[in-house]
Amino acid sequence: MTGEIEELKRLLGRDKVYDDPSVVALYSREASGLEGNGFLVVFPESTSDVSAIARWAYKRRIPIYPQGSATSLSGSAVPGKGVIVSFERMNRIYEISVVDSIADVEPGVRIADLNEALMTKGYMFPVDPASHVVATIGGAINTGAGGMKGARYGTMRDWVNQLEIVVPDEKGTVMRVGCRTVKCRQGLDLVRLIVGSEGTLALVTRAVLRITPLPESSPTVMGFFDNVEDLLAAFTELKTRRYPLLLAEFLDETAVSIAKKGVAGFESVRGHMFLASVESNHEAAERIMDDMVAVLKNHGASIIYTAQSLGEAEEKGLLTIRRRLFPAQIENARRFWGKSNVRVFIEDIVVPPSKLVNAINELKSITEKYGLPYTLGGHIGDGNLHPAVGIVLDDKKVVEKAHEWYVEVMKLAIRLGGSISAEHGIGLLKKDGLRLEMEKLDSIKALDIMKAIKRAFDPLNILNPGKLV
Ligand SMILES: Cc1cc2nc3c(=O)[nH]c(=O)nc-3n(C[C@H](O)[C@H](O)[C@H](O)COP(=O)(O)OP(=O)(O)OC[C@H]3O[C@@H](n4cnc5c(N)ncnc54)[C@H](O)[C@@H]3O)c2cc1C
Repeated sequence: MTGEIEELKRLLGRDKVYDDPSVVALYSREASGLEGNGFLVVFPESTSDVSAIARWAYKRRIPIYPQGSATSLSGSAVPGKGVIVSFERMNRIYEISVVDSIADVEPGVRIADLNEALMTKGYMFPVDPASHVVATIGGAINTGAGGMKGARYGTMRDWVNQLEIVVPDEKGTVMRVGCRTVKCRQGLDLVRLIVGSEGTLALVTRAVLRITPLPESSPTVMGFFDNVEDLLAAFTELKTRRYPLLLAEFLDETAVSIAKKGVAGFESVRGHMFLASVESNHEAAERIMDDMVAVLKNHGASIIYTAQSLGEAEEKGLLTIRRRLFPAQIENARRFWGKSNVRVFIEDIVVPPSKLVNAINELKSITEKYGLPYTLGGHIGDGNLHPAVGIVLDDKKVVEKAHEWYVEVMKLAIRLGGSISAEHGIGLLKKDGLRLEMEKLDSIKALDIMKAIKRAFDPLNILNPGKLV
């Protein structure tokens, strides 16, 4: 392999290619806790660098593992034996056009950085995973990520107009698919095929994203409930009152008890958390806020916090509490096992919002059977739940139990008319779940079609092999 690595160093420049095992190890782990075994990390700085990597890998049949910030929770960013392509140096924002409602960016741009640049123009990119401070545009595109504003703004598939991609063939071919404009009929929709393809079809080197104005006002309320039924009744009532919900978020009482630690002003809260925000204009904001507070109170919310805008909600710590779900899930596992070396199995199911009561109650009874530390939170606005159990890796029986739990939860989602993954993707952890779902839909042929599409983009199966299908 030394000859091949030297060749790549000559092609790209030595400062872009690292085979030092300690550097490679740093890039071989993702946030799910899964670890891989890449042997090389490269840091392209341009599309032509990426094209050169694709040509080199194709000629040598060397697997390529694209990577943003490795915050994936599905195993999609775990490298196997091959070259890790980190996009962290491709982080330019080429253009923000308010008139065209687009941002033209490289894949290594972090979502929070893009939003900071957009905010100065009164605009935003509304797909905001809780990991937005580090998560990259390329990673979010390839995961098909969503976030807290999913109820109103959907997921990445709704916000990508055009992509520049590189495919692994003898030329490292560069292509532009989709249009800079929202309206676009360019044959079959290759942009939507790439979104959510988890780095298995192409390397994304540039993206034209849609942007949208920041809401003039966004009255926000947070309340705490003793029982989930009351909380969901409040959510349902806000929907029936036809408020355009920007956020509708939930944390269970265990997650709340941990997430609130260190957030000033929340010391005395307890119970299940409901956070709701509505997009509005200045004139209507006060009336909507009063109405939301009344709805929460009528359904038994105990302590209610309010903010006039998401900016104020951020300052007051309301969004911090919600974003702490994943760290709270890890901490809960640590407390239960009395060790710091734990792993969290975090689920990502989605059910129709009308089935949330059934889902939350059934999740509880399923989990009780396993005796594992459990927490639940999620984006109830779009029916996306993130139940999690914590495990210790050195106990085989516990790991097996967690795997069984994971499958049972996916089956529950399918039974309730939902899906096994809303936003984290399939990766390594949900391949069986995807098969289960397609079987249930009597559509197993769809998996054969997906495999054929994979072969069309990547005939040698060298792009993130083993993931997704
Ligand atoms: C604390 C925490 C909170 C999270 N909250 C959310 C949430 O609210 N919503 C949500 O959807 N997700 C969430 N996630 C999951 C994850 O952060 C997101 O999916 C995120 O968008 C991944 O971005 P990344 O840059 O880390 O991508 P990575 O993890 O590096 O990669 C993800 C996938 O994209 C591929 N990829 C990356 N860049 C490219 C490229 N340029 N070309 C081709 N393929 C590429 C990788 O191969 C991999 O398959 C969370 C994760 C954590 C740890």
